[in-house]
Amino acid sequence: MVKKWGLRVTTLMFRVEADLHCHTTASDGLLTPQELVRQAALAGLMGVGITDHDTVSGWEEAEATGRECGLEILKGIELNTEVNGIEIHILGYEPEFEAKVLQEKLSFLRGARYKRMLDMIGRLNSLDVRVRAEDVEKFAHGESIGRPHVAQALIESGYAHSLKDAFTRYIGYGAPAYVPRYKLTPAEAIKVVRQAGGVAVLAHPGIQRLEGSLKEWVDQGLQGLEVSHSDHSGEDEARYRKLALEYGLVPTGGSDFHGEKRKPGVKLGGWGTSLDTVFVIRDLARRNRIKTTS
Ligand SMILES: [Zn+2]
Ligand SMILES: [Zn+2]
Repeated sequence: MVKKWGLRVTTLMFRVEADLHCHTTASDGLLTPQELVRQAALAGLMGVGITDHDTVSGWEEAEATGRECGLEILKGIELNTEVNGIEIHILGYEPEFEAKVLQEKLSFLRGARYKRMLDMIGRLNSLDVRVRAEDVEKFAHGESIGRPHVAQALIESGYAHSLKDAFTRYIGYGAPAYVPRYKLTPAEAIKVVRQAGGVAVLAHPGIQRLEGSLKEWVDQGLQGLEVSHSDHSGEDEARYRKLALEYGLVPTGGSDFHGEKRKPGVKLGGWGTSLDTVFVIRDLARRNRIKTTS
């Protein structure tokens, strides 16, 4: 099954004009949306996708800067999900900001993240590590509070000397103050994105290699596959490009940029797609909305 835009995108995919997977300070990235978009313009990109974890709060600033710099901003979100103990990330592009289903889910996830942070602090305190919620909150300039912010508070209070040290000794998986995170299932994430009129894309499939489930997710509404990604080898890229064609999925791509200090070697615009992909995704979202509202 090859849809007509499949070929259109793949023939133009080999030059990176748009990096469609970027994190800002709205979640766990190091650059503000404004800094990120400006840096993307300086790097010669023509489009950038803002895909913060569980939040859309970086969109407005990114769009305003995009207008200033003449850059196309693809509005996105990354939802962490889990199935059979394996973490699967779903990207949602161009969902409607006001969609009630999206806002409700995001506010629920924010609550779950906050509670997780409080639970971690409770455990740290019982280990005689004196860190307070306020100490963590000040590092989460955006809305998506997470373990990197707890780690920063641990470093600032002198309990750890690096992010890695904080994770290894306190909050990483298996460490004494580790608290598991609430996770959606991939099906739930796909459903939320689609109900909000967005385009659901499977992120970095090369990390988890669960292509056996691809058909099931496509049946649930998945419409894209992240082909180009900083964790993919050339072979992965070729395999996923082929699978995207086979399933009629839009091939997408992005670096998963978080700031070079957070993810060394992952440069903004190092991975991505043609600018055309931005328009293909927006078109698809527009068509999804017609279907959603009719
Ligand atoms: Zn991810
Ligand atoms: Zn990401």
